Amino acid sequence: MSEPAQLIVVGGGIVGLATAYTFTQRHPGRRVVVIEKESAVAAHQTGRNSGVIHSGIYYKPGSLKAVNCRRGKALLEDFCEAHAVPFERCGKVIVATHERELPRMEAIAARGRDNGVACEVIDRDRLLELEPHAAGIAAIRVPDAGVIDYTVVSERLAELIRDAGGEIVTGRRVTDIDEGSDAVEAITAGGESWRAPLLVGCAGLYSDRLARRTLRRVPVRIVPFRGEYYDLTPAAEHLVRHLIYPVPDPRFPFLGVHFTRRITGRVDCGPSAVPALAREGYRRRDVSLRDMLDTLTWRGIFGMAARYWRMGMGEMWRSLRRPAFVSALRRLVPAVEASHLQPAPSGVRAQAVRPDGRLLDDFLISESPRVVHVLNAPSPAATASLAIGERIVDHLAQHLQTQD
Ligand SMILES: Cc1cc2nc3c(=O)[nH]c(=O)nc-3n(C[C@H](O)[C@H](O)[C@H](O)COP(=O)(O)OP(=O)(O)OC[C@H]3O[C@@H](n4cnc5c(N)ncnc54)[C@H](O)[C@@H]3O)c2cc1C
Repeated sequence: MSEPAQLIVVGGGIVGLATAYTFTQRHPGRRVVVIEKESAVAAHQTGRNSGVIHSGIYYKPGSLKAVNCRRGKALLEDFCEAHAVPFERCGKVIVATHERELPRMEAIAARGRDNGVACEVIDRDRLLELEPHAAGIAAIRVPDAGVIDYTVVSERLAELIRDAGGEIVTGRRVTDIDEGSDAVEAITAGGESWRAPLLVGCAGLYSDRLARRTLRRVPVRIVPFRGEYYDLTPAAEHLVRHLIYPVPDPRFPFLGVHFTRRITGRVDCGPSAVPALAREGYRRRDVSLRDMLDTLTWRGIFGMAARYWRMGMGEMWRSLRRPAFVSALRRLVPAVEASHLQPAPSGVRAQAVRPDGRLLDDFLISESPRVVHVLNAPSPAATASLAIGERIVDHLAQHLQTQD
């Protein structure tokens, strides 16, 4: 019979796995169990994202995103070097295509410098040396940004957790958590249960529902936003060398459709940000009555609609009409044609929304002595995952010490 577990992690995405891995590194000999509802790790946001290693340029200095992105990027690159996971530090450009975007572009560059990110504002000539097909009157060059396959990272983390005596239990959905005075029990849909002194919830699109099992008041609701992608056809891939991003709209936490040359060499365009009708609604026709009622009967939805309806309509228009999507892309690379695009798999973002309808920009983690819930871990949480794991394990360590 195996040793009893010291930590249960619910969710086998990159945040859960990075947390479990960090725990095994800090506390050798203490067993971790990761419980994942799908048959493999990284099945949702982690395996369906853009695969970018973010530099940390965009985020408000001092925020959890800013601090953990910088630290997480360094930890991730060290991890990849130590464990032979391929990544490429290819650099990116954030392109201003109109004069009105220049002040915002300068503000992002200043933010980047405050966050310790190497970046420089470049003129059009220099931009064309880097990305010969990009539009733009000026740009920020971020040489540190990179690309990676987060599924490969997750699989490697899972392997190392197992090597350290941990277990990755797949195909089990945790439906209840019972927090007692000396242990926490995770109960699955099939009636199995696991007990440990500590539990961390990293359930991504279901993080608020899982948190409701132990928290009387969960301060946010997860609203799913589908990100639709297209791939460039092989004939058009030469139009993009690395990563070409627009200057983002500061009122919205998403970065705007962009071009990403992936670690595989494929170039994709997207993602859009369309409200999804199911938490795991990867196709337009995917509808979950429960998820829709959950969103529509919640008071924050009215505030959200009032604040973001204009941007939401624009995103839906681009989602429904390919020419509108193409024209958003052509602002960055004018030579792109509709015939260059082929549909690619989409992802769904777990975006936490506050009761007043504002989309929560920063990461949100609720910590009690025995149970930690990661409530908002949108982009750049894949980049930041090992730093988020470190932070959670630091918190848990205080509790472990009181047990010893
Ligand atoms: C379209 C898109 C593009 C993005 N691009 C980038 C990028 O380029 N760079 C970057 O750094 N970040 C990016 N992100 C963000 C990044 O992917 C996420 O922040 C990160 O993957 C979150 O990891 P996670 O482990 O919290 O969630 P997930 O990967 O969603 O994992 C949560 C896991 O929990 C499991 N689960 C849920 N409920 C239960 C339950 N009750 N019982 C058991 N298991 C459960 C799910 O099956 C899932 O596997 C992007 C996200 C999206 C959607």
